[in-house]
Amino acid sequence: MRQKILVANWKMHKTGAETVSFFKELKSLLPKIMSGTHVSDTHVSDTTIVVAPPFTSLETASKLAKACGVKLAAQNMHWEEKGAFTGEVSAPMLKALGCEFVILGHSERRHVFFETDEQIHNKIKTALNQGLKVIFCVGEKLDERESNQTFSVLEKQLSLGLAGVNKAQLSEIVIAYEPVWAIGTGKVAEPAQAEEAHRFIRRKVWDMYDMDTAAALPILYGGSVKAQNFKAISSEPNVDGALVGGASLEAKSFIEILEQMS
Ligand code: PEP
Repeated sequence: MRQKILVANWKMHKTGAETVSFFKELKSLLPKIMSGTHVSDTHVSDTTIVVAPPFTSLETASKLAKACGVKLAAQNMHWEEKGAFTGEVSAPMLKALGCEFVILGHSERRHVFFETDEQIHNKIKTALNQGLKVIFCVGEKLDERESNQTFSVLEKQLSLGLAGVNKAQLSEIVIAYEPVWAIGTGKVAEPAQAEEAHRFIRRKVWDMYDMDTAAALPILYGGSVKAQNFKAISSEPNVDGALVGGASLEAKSFIEILEQMS
């Protein structure tokens, strides 16, 4: 069975004090959910929960996350391990803070900060070489979907991002399909649209690697996920979890999404 994963991407939200409050609430809610009657027919208890705070809250979050059984992710990193890169943060620095994952290729990095496929590829290689697992985001913009380019965009992002990544390294990667038109917009993909894209991604990974590697790859959906819309998406066979922005800022709304995992 593929790993189920639920990721909170806080983006540029939460001070250290707000991080403490979030984990305090999460710690009180998690045991209730784990012991709920619905657990037997969902994947609540075997879902890996990951929280990605901003850099400034990573150290605070690191200890608190461990106490809740939650994994820590960074939202970005530089592709060099050290050097004269003012304002940047390296993979070894993230490892030292207890990060197990790093989110790379997020659409806000691609389209607000103009990160290229080549830069994302360099970051993926460095992260893997430094022992970080990668949550690799791919997804098309609205104009690309409307002009029937969804699959060619995904194909290009995957080919360039994963170039030179070997089969063993691929097992340290989780892919997040995040249609850009659905991120922070309240417009969620139809379950069939998500499934079609996830199936395409899995088929592409099969072509690049092999069937077993593709079958084991967790593929998350991201884009305006909430408890109210996630059950239907989560029921699709190629959806293995979610990358959640807005609805991950409150422990309660984040945990309500966990209850919809199927
Ligand atoms: C995201 O941050 O990757 C995201 C999907 O955000 P939201 O859930 O707010 O659309």
